[in-house]
Amino acid sequence: MSRYWSPIVSKLQPYVAGEQPRIPGLVKLNTNENPYGPSPTALEAIRQAADDRLRLYPDPAATELRQTIAARHGLTAEEVFVGNGSDEVLAHAFQALLKHERPLLYPDVTYSFYPTYSLLYGVETVEVSVYDRFQIRLADYDRPCGAIIIANPNAPTGIGLPLADIEALIAAHPDAVVAIDEAYIDFGGDSAIPLICKYPNLLVVQTLSKSRSLAGLRVGFALGRRELIEALERVKDSFNSYPLDRLAQVAATAAIKDEAWFETCRKMLIASRDGLVRELEALDFEVLPSQANFVFAKHESQSGAALQAALRERGVLVRHFAKPRISEFLRISIGTDEECARLVSAFKEILSA
Ligand code: PMP
Repeated sequence: MSRYWSPIVSKLQPYVAGEQPRIPGLVKLNTNENPYGPSPTALEAIRQAADDRLRLYPDPAATELRQTIAARHGLTAEEVFVGNGSDEVLAHAFQALLKHERPLLYPDVTYSFYPTYSLLYGVETVEVSVYDRFQIRLADYDRPCGAIIIANPNAPTGIGLPLADIEALIAAHPDAVVAIDEAYIDFGGDSAIPLICKYPNLLVVQTLSKSRSLAGLRVGFALGRRELIEALERVKDSFNSYPLDRLAQVAATAAIKDEAWFETCRKMLIASRDGLVRELEALDFEVLPSQANFVFAKHESQSGAALQAALRERGVLVRHFAKPRISEFLRISIGTDEECARLVSAFKEILSA
């Protein structure tokens, strides 16, 4: 707190990102990065663009990237918004589309940036309780609201909702924007993108950080009808004309075009996830059904905090949230098979001690 701060600053509850330590040989399974690395064509695009042209500002509208994303999903570039990571896209959505007199609804166990943005932008919210093992019950969203945001699959649980349920939610709230945050959709869920042609109130948000393995590039996007995208553009152009630099634009475009790399890495990751779930279950973990590139798991007798600390001593990082209802769980990103094996052997050592 400082007398120089604007009054809102002391009221903010900033998001705490997972740590990014530089410890050699670390098995880093704490921030849901993709272990396989970006498409080689994306890296080549960066090399080709790293020249004197960097003295020029980038295309403020990221036209080629938007066209490429649009073409992949059968939409027009006018129905695509891009931003500096989907976090920025989400932030603009909170300000441009999710803030109304009536409250924004989202699950009480979900991505912790939602309450952070709500405080930042003064969005009224109702956190709707998930039930039992973190299930989202759609009937609980049957109440007056200004907008809804759901992460599908949800974070940090990894649990996905069937597309039919998502559609029912969108159809039940024609006067409210329903934003679906699909950061992890490529690891097992069905995207709501095909519903955009049917529903003017649907906004789908995705990222290149996870399934395209480009967390360091910071590119995310939103898809929806022109009316919704225009609102995001108005906020963006009141905030930063150039959120995506030249290198990000060319690399993201190349990454979206590289379907073969995307498919290969995605399939390897899903296979590793299935293998890791079996191993964890054999070690007496309860593992929630995951459609994401991470699992959310709780040991039958050891505390989440103690396990995280013991893993860290053995050079394995996982994420633990010291929050009500989820403090016994660990969120474990799926690494390569080798990394998963190192995690499992560290667990074996800890649990047999
Ligand atoms: N949504 C969810 C549910 C996430 O877990 C994340 C990653 N922390 C994001 C959005 C943001 O990802 P990025 O800003 O890297 O696109």
